[in-house]
This record gives sequence, C-alpha cells and structure tokens, in this order.
Amino acid sequence: MDRLLSNEEQIIDEEASLRPQTLEEYVGQQDLKQNLAVFIEAAKQRGEALDHVLLYGPPGLGKTTLSYILAHEMGGNIKTTSGPSIEKSGDLAAILSTLEPGDVLFIDEIHRLPKQVEEILYPAMEDYCIDIVVGKEAGVRSIRLDLPPFTLVGATTRAGDLTAPLRDRFGIINQLQFYHLEELEQIIRRTSRVMDTTIEAAAVVEIARRSRGTPRIANRLFRRVRDFAQVMNDGIISSDIASMALDRLKVDHLGLDAVDHKYLKGIIERFKGGPVGLEAIASSIGEEPMTLEDVYEPYLLQIGFINRTPRGRIVTEKAYQHLGYHFQDNLFE
Ligand code: ADP
Repeated sequence: MDRLLSNEEQIIDEEASLRPQTLEEYVGQQDLKQNLAVFIEAAKQRGEALDHVLLYGPPGLGKTTLSYILAHEMGGNIKTTSGPSIEKSGDLAAILSTLEPGDVLFIDEIHRLPKQVEEILYPAMEDYCIDIVVGKEAGVRSIRLDLPPFTLVGATTRAGDLTAPLRDRFGIINQLQFYHLEELEQIIRRTSRVMDTTIEAAAVVEIARRSRGTPRIANRLFRRVRDFAQVMNDGIISSDIASMALDRLKVDHLGLDAVDHKYLKGIIERFKGGPVGLEAIASSIGEEPMTLEDVYEPYLLQIGFINRTPRGRIVTEKAYQHLGYHFQDNLFE
C-alpha cells in the first residue's frame, strides 16, 4: 500500500497541481510577464540561456510558480533547492554538476545561503564554471569544472538582505506585486475548475476579497471553504457558505487574520499606536519579528494600516477605524 501523505506533503502536492504551466496562464504581474516574454524570446533566438533572474516579494505571490514557468518556456528542466538547505560548497557543486544546457536552478530563500556557498555561485553565474578544491594538505589543489549555460532563479522575501556582489550578478531583478481583486477571482475560478467544484460568482468575490492579495492564501481559503461546502451544502460553494466559513476561519472582510488583529491591537493598546520597534511589538505579542516583517507587515503597509518610520511602526487612522477604536490624532507627535 502507498504511504499516506503527511498533511504538509498533501498541501505541497495540491499546490503543484494548481500551478499554471505557461506564462500565458500565469495570472497578473502584467509588466513582469510582458518583459519576461521578450527576454525569453530574445534568449531563444540567440540560442542562449535566459539571464539570471531574481524575484522578490512576500511569500505566496508566485515566485516558485514563475520559476517553473521560465524553465518550461525555455524548454529546460528545473532543479529546486533553498538557501538554508545548502550547507557546504560541495552541496551546491553537486547540484550544479547535474545541470543540462538551458536548465533552471531555482534557489528559494537565496538570502540565506552561507557565505562560502555564495562565493561558488559567482563564477558559476558569470562564467558558467566552478572551482572545486580537492586533496588535503600539501596535495591540495583546485580543479575548474565547466558548467552548461543555465539560468539561476533566486527567490527571496527580503531583497535587502542579499549581498551586493550576489545581487549584481542577476541580469533581471523583479519585485512581485500583490494581486488585484479581479486577478484573484480569476485564480479562484481556475482552482475551482481544477478541483471540480461548483462555486457561485459572489462566493468567488468573497474569497478573493479576503485573500490579502495573495494567490496562495486564495487557494488555501478556497480549500477550507470547500470543506464547509462539502459537509454542509452538497459540495456547492454558495456565497452564504463562503461568508460563514471565512468568518469561522477568523478571516475578516479585508483578509486580516488573528495574528494581524493581535499585532494591530498590540500596538494600539500597549504602545499607544506607535511608533514602536519591531522587536518590542513582536515580543509583546509572542511572534517572531521575521515572520511579522516578511509575512504580515507587507500587506498591512499595502492597505495603509501601518506606516514604517525611522522611529518604528505606527498604526494609521484607517486601521483604528477598521478595528473599532477611537483615533486620537497626533497622539505620538
Ligand atoms: P512563492 O514562491 O512566491 O511563495 P508560489 O509560487 O509557491 O509562491 O505560489 C503559491 C501558489 O499560488 C501556487 O501553488 C499557485 O497555485 C498559486 N499562484 C501563484 N501565483 C499565481 C499566478 N500568477 N496565477 C495563478 N496561480 C498562482
């Protein structure tokens, strides 16, 4: 009997099945897509590998998906790894030596590559070669290994943490943007087709509105709403079922969840709305500063609920109103 998939594996498996395969199917990110289409065409005409690509932005916006598409569009294969999982330069050399011409090497969380591993990447990216040190003591020597032309796609939630020499070696650097409502609706409709589920138009809008501009969240909420529909409504996702399910999941009308609420209320109640440093607010609500900064704050900034100032985070009047607090102007001036 096949081994049962763990919960996490199941999610990864489902995510893979929801991934669009071509640039055309990839929803949104119009400017980026149009430019990439030109770069891909030009590289193909010249018979070269696509230049190295750095994609940055919050999790779930489609960086991994796009790297698969780039490999597909270039007619190559993709090898995937992540910064923290490559501990030694030998690990990276082993991956690089398996590349075929035109392949994509995808490194997620590339800002977390150890320094000595990163240094192996420089000549690999620039000249398609690596220098490997072999032997011991007096017999130690360096061998140069040629690599086929390949494309490195690096993904990161924090472009600012990349070292300058690494960043400079990417020919194409792009930030992924949060998705518009109509784009999220398109993604949800596609997901409902792939999962063979009936969904009302108003329910699509309801899920999209609460997805905080992020396809991964849209798909995750869709799956949970589908569970409620299956158990309570013969599998049909009506707008009533969607609203009820999303309320029960504690996702509010703007897509803010329990952590967003805890974060905003924490700043308002304990720090008079700010300014407050990231570390202070993180420790006061028991969350990791990095999670708040990478996962939660980008969307709160985007919808104008917080501002980042040199003195720390400030909650805006808009957020006060959303949470039902009375806003006192110039509290922190
Ligand atoms: P990231 O690498 O930025 O964390 P992923 O590429 O893993 O994000 O995307 C998460 C999920 O969201 C994917 O499985 C895919 O189903 C969906 N997705 C992301 N971007 C798009 C898009 N532009 N169009 C359709 N679906 C998308």
